[in-house]
Amino acid sequence: MRRVFFISLLLVALTFVIAWGMLHFFATPEKDAAGADAATMITVRQAGAVRTLPLSEWLPGVVAAEMPASFAPEALRAQAVAARTYVTDHASHRPKAHPDADVCDDPKCCTAWCSDADMEKKWGADAASNRARIAAAVADTDGEILTWEGAPIRAVFHSSSAGQTESSAALWGDRPYLVSVSTPETAQDVPDFVAVTERSAEAVREAILGAHPDCQLPDDPAAWFGAPEHDASGRVSAQSVGSITLSGAELRSLLSLRSAAYTVQYADGVFRFTTTGYGHGVGMSQYGANVMAGQGSTYAEILEHYYPGTVLCKLNE
Ligand SMILES: [Zn+2]
Repeated sequence: MRRVFFISLLLVALTFVIAWGMLHFFATPEKDAAGADAATMITVRQAGAVRTLPLSEWLPGVVAAEMPASFAPEALRAQAVAARTYVTDHASHRPKAHPDADVCDDPKCCTAWCSDADMEKKWGADAASNRARIAAAVADTDGEILTWEGAPIRAVFHSSSAGQTESSAALWGDRPYLVSVSTPETAQDVPDFVAVTERSAEAVREAILGAHPDCQLPDDPAAWFGAPEHDASGRVSAQSVGSITLSGAELRSLLSLRSAAYTVQYADGVFRFTTTGYGHGVGMSQYGANVMAGQGSTYAEILEHYYPGTVLCKLNE
């Protein structure tokens, strides 16, 4: 009789354990759905149309479009926080380009974004596992943003830098947390870290005169570019071109160069620009974040490095 009693007790206990497990299992998605990202509505301009949706539905598409899904989980988490902060900041400072929406899907204006269908196309057989990695990075950092004096920061980021990131002061005006910091990526970590871009003399003339019709260019293209000046991050800060002087950032934009860390040579009608790194260089370096993650840094440490002095907070707290 005693044995029957114990078996019954065991069965009852087992039933409770299974019931608790199932409840826990099925309750988890509900808990996530009630998270801070799901509770925060944003307005986006996407493919030309404006729509309102929860932040939780927008962020995975930004992380997927802006960072390789193969990057380390801590780098993906840092990217998720940067993307969430970027959107949150824009919600209170909508760009002039779209006063009807917080952000758009144009990387030249806000950040890139890709749909589930784009992810299928881009990743093929790896789509499901890559999507899961990105969804985890977003969910693990649910509602977390970077702030400065209580307000979301302008969390800009870029692909890679040569040794030092650029300061916001050099490009867009001073922001105390967007200063030049060291960054660890090298040619071993980054595809096309050092790259050559060729532009014909005619294409350079068109680009320069298109923006500066009064610029006088000598007959010999070899004499067009003077010796550049560099800022503390190693990028070109001032570049004489014929009769005018441009910033390295403007020349980069006019000629679609990968970065403003360049040298230039001319021969036989062609300018060869050798660039290092990719992007404007301000804020978090994505490849740098991945190297830091590989060396054991957490996403919070990565963010503190690239946005020094900022505070990691929960939305609406
Ligand atoms: Zn935009």
